[in-house]
Amino acid sequence: MSASTAAAAAYIVAALLFILSLAGLSRHETAKAGNAYGMAGMAIALVATIGLATRNSSGVGIALLVVAMVAGAAIGLWRAARVEMTGMPELIAILHSFVGLAAVLVGWNGYLSVEADAENQTEVAGNLLGIHSAEVVIGVFIGAVTFTGSIVAFLKLSARISSNPLVLPGKNALNLGALVAFAVLTVVFVVEPNLLVLSAVTLLALALGWHLVASIGGGDMPVVVSMLNSYSGWAAAASGFLLGNDLLIITGALVGSSGAYLSYIMCKAMNRSFISVIAGGFGIQGNVSDDRDYGEHTEISAEDTADLLREAASVVITPGYGMAVAQAQGAVAELTRKLRAKDIDVRFGIHPVAGRLPGHMNVLLAEARVPYDVVLEMDEINDDFARTSVVLVIGANDTVNPAATDDPGSPIAGMPVLKVWEAERVIVFKRSMSTGYAGVQNPLFFRENSRMLFGDARERVEDILRTL
Ligand code: NDP
Repeated sequence: MSASTAAAAAYIVAALLFILSLAGLSRHETAKAGNAYGMAGMAIALVATIGLATRNSSGVGIALLVVAMVAGAAIGLWRAARVEMTGMPELIAILHSFVGLAAVLVGWNGYLSVEADAENQTEVAGNLLGIHSAEVVIGVFIGAVTFTGSIVAFLKLSARISSNPLVLPGKNALNLGALVAFAVLTVVFVVEPNLLVLSAVTLLALALGWHLVASIGGGDMPVVVSMLNSYSGWAAAASGFLLGNDLLIITGALVGSSGAYLSYIMCKAMNRSFISVIAGGFGIQGNVSDDRDYGEHTEISAEDTADLLREAASVVITPGYGMAVAQAQGAVAELTRKLRAKDIDVRFGIHPVAGRLPGHMNVLLAEARVPYDVVLEMDEINDDFARTSVVLVIGANDTVNPAATDDPGSPIAGMPVLKVWEAERVIVFKRSMSTGYAGVQNPLFFRENSRMLFGDARERVEDILRTL
């Protein structure tokens, strides 16, 4: 068996493992196996690629490959070991920028080694040269948009630049104009490949990526990260076509389509239109001024909460971003165990965008060893609140805001929410009366059956544990 046949076989195995990995990652119970499949697939892909490269490369080429791999692995391990769950979106954003940059470089390399090289050009059959040129220009375009777009997303998420949307006059016309110019330049490049046109496409795409993401408000940044994830997949697939690498095409398409689907799920969970998000129309509301009188809120102590819990028949816990900030998942898991030991029915209600990434809460609860079968999705639990004795809202705010259903004028009107207010008693764990991510006040806090338990969520849950 030749080396290229062996590599092709290894690529098919790796591609299958990547598909199994995605399938595994879609359920709690199989997520660990999903990760293992992904790692195995990547290991096989790396070995096959290195094997192929060492056959075709000089000593210098192999040395460069080793240096790049060691440096990349060291930086990757260092960052992954250090990142907090709440810092995940910005890490993902910067990683996407590397994929984008790689696609630009692969595209340029394709041009320099084929179109710009008379000797190689004759090796590509006449009608295939046009296809090659189209691959170059499309790969460079998607890659460059992903590159600058991801850098802006990283800068916004890490608060290195303001998260306010950039509002240039006629911004939609600018984006549309850039797309039209790209289409025209692609045709020109395919007809007459030349350095000037490719440079123009690169600069145009770099500017478009920057502008697209700069005009989106910080509020929509997680959707943008997921969208850039999708772009980075398509950029990788475009590189796969150029390099004649099937695995890169398959992997790119998997990333591209799963990223697009994730963006769709997030938009649906926030009642946003995907097109409006990517056109930069939303996320502008920030902290809307609201001088309405919501009434008085009532406080409760950890001791009284413990008494309520002791007498409850059923408890639902709805965690949110604050649970991640307080790192309260361990204490919450302990509370769950204690209450279940007293024969109290305890379940979790997870909103699809609770936290700052889809699945954020599920990861934290799994880490704290909360049994999967008591962790339910919003749609599975929403009808049960009316039959629940006590709901513990732990660091969640927008995802339990009744204004989303009751107030058509609210900035989050129409967003599906957990109907916690239908329960007999609602205890809200937070540090102050300040707003959540969307910057809107939450009338839940002022309802008659709601009690506020102020302070750091972890400390308060530990207080309850002590009393219990
Ligand atoms: P929110 O951001 O609405 O609210 C978090 C709450 O936690 C705040 O009210 C805050 O109040 C409280 N909090 C913060 N730190 C602590 C602490 N140490 N102890 C106790 N409480 C704390 O969170 P949700 O999870 O309810 O909603 C997520 C939001 O993020 C939604 O608006 C969603 O649209 C948005 N989003 C989520 C995405 C996702 O994929 N998950 C993607 C894009 C956006 P206080 O400061 O008073 O303590």
